[in-house]
Amino acid sequence: MNHEADIAVIGGGFGGALMAMVARRLGRSVVMIERGRHPRFAIGESSTPLANLFFQQIVEEYRLPQLLSFRRWGEWQRDHPEIGCGIKRGFSFFHHRLGQVFSDDMQRRNQLLVAASPRNEVADTHWYRPDFDHHLANEAQRLGVDYFDQTELVSFDEGPAGVTLAGQRNSELVRFRAGFVIDATGPRGWLHRMLGLTQGSLPLMPKTSGLFAHFKNVGAWPSADGVPYPVEDAAVHHVFDGGWVWVLKFNNGITSAGVAVTRQRADGMGLSEGQPGWQRLLAELPSLAEQFADAEPIGQFVFVPELSFCSRQITGARWAMLPSSSGFVDPLLSTGFPLTLLGIHRLASCLGGGIDIAEYERQTISELEQVSRLVGALYASMGDFEVFTALTQLYFTAVSFSETAHRLNKPELSGGFLLCDHPVFGPATSEICESVVSLANRNETLMKIHNLIEPFNVAGLADPAKRNWYPVVIDDLFAAAAKLGSSEDTIREMLLREKLI
Ligand SMILES: Cc1cc2nc3c(=O)[nH]c(=O)nc-3n(C[C@H](O)[C@H](O)[C@H](O)COP(=O)(O)OP(=O)(O)OC[C@H]3O[C@@H](n4cnc5c(N)ncnc54)[C@H](O)[C@@H]3O)c2cc1C
Repeated sequence: MNHEADIAVIGGGFGGALMAMVARRLGRSVVMIERGRHPRFAIGESSTPLANLFFQQIVEEYRLPQLLSFRRWGEWQRDHPEIGCGIKRGFSFFHHRLGQVFSDDMQRRNQLLVAASPRNEVADTHWYRPDFDHHLANEAQRLGVDYFDQTELVSFDEGPAGVTLAGQRNSELVRFRAGFVIDATGPRGWLHRMLGLTQGSLPLMPKTSGLFAHFKNVGAWPSADGVPYPVEDAAVHHVFDGGWVWVLKFNNGITSAGVAVTRQRADGMGLSEGQPGWQRLLAELPSLAEQFADAEPIGQFVFVPELSFCSRQITGARWAMLPSSSGFVDPLLSTGFPLTLLGIHRLASCLGGGIDIAEYERQTISELEQVSRLVGALYASMGDFEVFTALTQLYFTAVSFSETAHRLNKPELSGGFLLCDHPVFGPATSEICESVVSLANRNETLMKIHNLIEPFNVAGLADPAKRNWYPVVIDDLFAAAAKLGSSEDTIREMLLREKLI
């Protein structure tokens, strides 16, 4: 069987399906080729305000209104209650000492709660990927994408007229001819292996491993009076020296939980054994063990010996990898979705003649490397929660500044993900992260972080008086209007337009 298309997208997860839909909206014929079959388990679930904004920009620019309600919890619940998701009002962090029950003091030195949205209606979400990706693949077909699942590709031949991909589907030979190929198969994915590409290195990032599963019957993590949002309506991070555990609750009774740790800790806990490794981890985290006392895994544990990855080459004359195939750092800070969505937007711009592919490559690598520096520094400070907390403020400052700049239609202020292209914020962040990893003067580093944040801080962050609890306070944004070259009235108009107040 021979099939021809302008664009072949390999991988039918959310990234591939959205890319395929955008290409259709650009008037291209598209085939999407998936090895598996929906619905299927996929990891990478927690969205963020910036990711949701990038998602919204794509669906608006490429006329995909049928997807708009996935940008927010309230609209999602009204329009698609059948598609599982979780509510995410913020980022919750709890710092544990291995072997000890979690405890905190009056200053709340062992926790950090950063609200991302002021109320449930406009909250972010955790995407239950078996449902969500399935829906997107169906939507892609509705837009005219030719979809081939259960297809195992085995060859890639690039010629002057295009690329020929060949493989097998239900023991039949299939051949696809396309002008351009987009790889959306994830880290260490199909094109990376097929083209025999080499791995690059990710700055400051230690070698880490991951172990994760979906569970039922997960108990509740205790809350306290006056919290900025219900602590479990969030991406919950349990941080300890050498790693961290995530707990994400969906509205279908399923909880996603897993751990990312340095290779040394993974070996020490025998995580590669799956469930016995998970039990050994819980034994070191007694308060979390209590929450998981009645939990039962649904399906298999997945062990990933090496989480981080970066391909040295991510584009060619007739192909490109999505950011999610180009590299991956760590689930910490939920950076996978925003990077993937930025990449889809930029590749769409390449297809439409807006930017060239070399610029796509430069931006993708530069953002991946900046995420790597920040996450590498966070790993280096997991035993020192004050430094860890200060570093997270670099992330929260950069993303809230970028989000507001985009919403004010001033994308030129946003300077790449984590403000990595900003002439001051980008290099200063790199330098701070390097000094944390090299254990340079701790107090000086804390002061540098404080000073760097100030001119970009539009969300009342890094305020000791708040004792690590940061609700959304609209007045903080009004007070910071000048930092965005804006006025209080313009900010109010924007918030009303976006239905955020
Ligand atoms: C442990 C972990 C936790 C994460 N948590 C988060 C998070 O909370 N928030 C966040 O923003 N990001 C997170 N990420 C990153 C996130 O998973 C990715 O950004 C996201 O999955 C990218 O989606 P995608 O559809 O592009 O790729 P994927 O989800 O990787 O999907 C790839 C698709 O390609 C298919 N495929 C694979 N090989 C082939 C082949 N040879 N031929 C055809 N098809 C193939 C697969 O079956 C799959 O359907 C996490 C990643 C990991 C590893």
